[in-house]
Amino acid sequence: MRLLIVEDEQRLARSLARGLEAEGFAVDVSHDGLDGLHRARETSYDLIVLDIMLPGLNGYRICAALRAEGDETPVLMLTAKDGEYDEAEGLDTGADDYLTKPFSYVVLLARVRALLRRRNRAGAREMRVGSLRVEPSTRRVWLADEEVSLTTKEFAVLEQLATRAGEVVSKAEILEHVWDFAYEGDVNIVEVYISALRRKLGGGRILTLRGAGYRLVPDA
Ligand code: CA
Repeated sequence: MRLLIVEDEQRLARSLARGLEAEGFAVDVSHDGLDGLHRARETSYDLIVLDIMLPGLNGYRICAALRAEGDETPVLMLTAKDGEYDEAEGLDTGADDYLTKPFSYVVLLARVRALLRRRNRAGAREMRVGSLRVEPSTRRVWLADEEVSLTTKEFAVLEQLATRAGEVVSKAEILEHVWDFAYEGDVNIVEVYISALRRKLGGGRILTLRGAGYRLVPDA
């Protein structure tokens, strides 16, 4: 799951990013409205945390622009308690939820999870590939009836493969969804996680297509 935070208060943005990363999300941060809109257009995020008062372009405009382009990425708007905001206006522009500053991190995380769950319900609530069952809303995985314990990154890699089960998913595509822009290391980091997944799930489930990527298949 990859999230974008558009927030010009740098300390707040940093602490949110750190907290969400610790939960296993890949997080990009933008401190400017125009840059935020640009990133939202360039990358398919799973959710956007969007401040309203921003330099460059305000959050309402960003949200309205995305919706006008048919982009339905869930948006959680951050509003200042005493700020000049209008909830009705925000909802008109297509935001999915609101949080008034100051807020507790725990509440933010709960709202983020709820929005992602809502989105997942509309799409893939649970994925089954042979005897493998992947549940994105709770980030749990079962093999037949036995739960498999995965690290957050392992889960994120598996989720990408399961979302497109049977198709070839390239390392670059996995990187884009699981790691953030700040990651400048080797794309071969993906191999490390694929190896770990094979150890935990059995080697025959994740096929390597040399030079192309990986394919998740049902167990034989
Ligand atoms: Ca602001």
